Amino acid sequence: MSIRRLPSCIPIPIEDKVLAELVPKTKDWALMNGIGMRSKAAFSEDSISFAPFLLLPSTFPRKEFQKAVEIQTTLNELMHRVAHNKAFLQETLKDTIQVDEFTGNLYKIWETVLDEGINQELSLGLVRSDYMLHNGQIKQVEYNTISVSLSGVGKAVSIYNRFVLEELGHYDKLQNLPENHALTGITMGLLEAWKIYGDANAVILVIVEDVTYNICDQRFHEFELKRLNPRVKLMRRTLTEMYQEGSLTEDNQLSVDGLIVSVVYYRSAYTPDQIPTKKEWDARLMIEKSQAIKCPSIQYHLAGTKKVQQALAKPEVLEMFLSDPKKIDAVREIFTGLYGLDFDEAGDQAIQMALEDPDRFVLKPQREGGGNNIYGTDIREAISKMKNTKERTAWILMERIMPPVSTGYIIRPGGSKLPQLSEMVSELGIFGVVIGDSQKIMVNRQVGHMLRTKISTADEGGVAAGFGALDSPYLI
Ligand code: ADP
Ligand code: MG
Ligand code: MG
Repeated sequence: MSIRRLPSCIPIPIEDKVLAELVPKTKDWALMNGIGMRSKAAFSEDSISFAPFLLLPSTFPRKEFQKAVEIQTTLNELMHRVAHNKAFLQETLKDTIQVDEFTGNLYKIWETVLDEGINQELSLGLVRSDYMLHNGQIKQVEYNTISVSLSGVGKAVSIYNRFVLEELGHYDKLQNLPENHALTGITMGLLEAWKIYGDANAVILVIVEDVTYNICDQRFHEFELKRLNPRVKLMRRTLTEMYQEGSLTEDNQLSVDGLIVSVVYYRSAYTPDQIPTKKEWDARLMIEKSQAIKCPSIQYHLAGTKKVQQALAKPEVLEMFLSDPKKIDAVREIFTGLYGLDFDEAGDQAIQMALEDPDRFVLKPQREGGGNNIYGTDIREAISKMKNTKERTAWILMERIMPPVSTGYIIRPGGSKLPQLSEMVSELGIFGVVIGDSQKIMVNRQVGHMLRTKISTADEGGVAAGFGALDSPYLI
């Protein structure tokens, strides 16, 4: 397997003298322009630290970037149809929901609303499809439908890249930084859903975690919303607060604090610890029953599971959802090998492959938010333990993408004044907005991008976890 190397956007290393002056300035730029997060180590609502970022933008092949941008609306269409295909979701998730309690509980909510009658036919999708390069071509890591982050902060990084190249005098290079309208695009999605709801006094409700570290990204949306339409009110509540303060009116409108909610935007509720007790599950169900437009609706949440991603890669499945052969081929081209671990011949074969050559794969549970996957020889151990139990049906096996390595400087809080060069790999995310119901798609757009870059030896690149850093592509 060839691991190619990507060049840097300008000659490196940068002289120490230049770095010593530049680095403190870039940190201040980051802090002053919202490339920030709350510190986990020293949390305070009164301060923000800058988030790890790349001193210089990492390079990304222009053709593959374009491919990712262009395929976004097809993926949106695909996932929208998947979310509305009851039989497909039922068949795909039937074993997984028996063993994965969290997915099982989400599924129960879906069943309940299907049974009682859906009060809001429309879904709002603010989504992100993620990619890494493999042998020079983009391969999809996953398609996220819930709590998609970094469109706000990511846009700030895109602007930062102009600043840093200008500081270093590389004005001729600016043309290779793609414009990024992710923040406005995603926020417009919220605003359009609010408009469709049709009640000028109704609020947008953001479901938040008990403690928000990624505050800049979330506030960027709130402030952008105010910029686009100063009259729209946005409120933030946890699911626990919704249990206490929220209710349904007689005609199933969602009400909090005497205000009607038009749109519910989840920036939480995608991991088991974010829906810890029956109270929060009750709140989650109440919201789903309401007339509010949900981002995501329960069917969108289920469609975004890894199990669904794997099922879509099976032969002749894409044909169920897309009719244009060109689109089908284009989507198939970005898939990498995906295998279920069901109790059937294909599942047994996948288990055999993983045991024989674990380094070729990533083992994934039905989780979001990073840090949940299993890599390398740990796969052998995990599979040996679960292969005779139902547990295995809650996991998928994915071929490991081997992205090209690049070299650059990661700037971290508390890091040294003269950062060292490191070997890194990048993951590109493309944002999309979809609004529609089971019959039609009213809005389907690609709205921008972000890049996350991690040291090449790290399996995962969580920015908050300390391995990953915010980046934005420099096209070559
Ligand atoms: P999550 O929903 O938790 O973000 P992902 O599928 O994105 O789950 O996996 C988390 C991280 O693991 C990715 O950002 C990427 O760094 C790494 N990863 C996931 N799938 C693969 C793969 N097939 N090959 C290589 N790395 C992967
Ligand atoms: Mg995800
Ligand atoms: Mg991910």
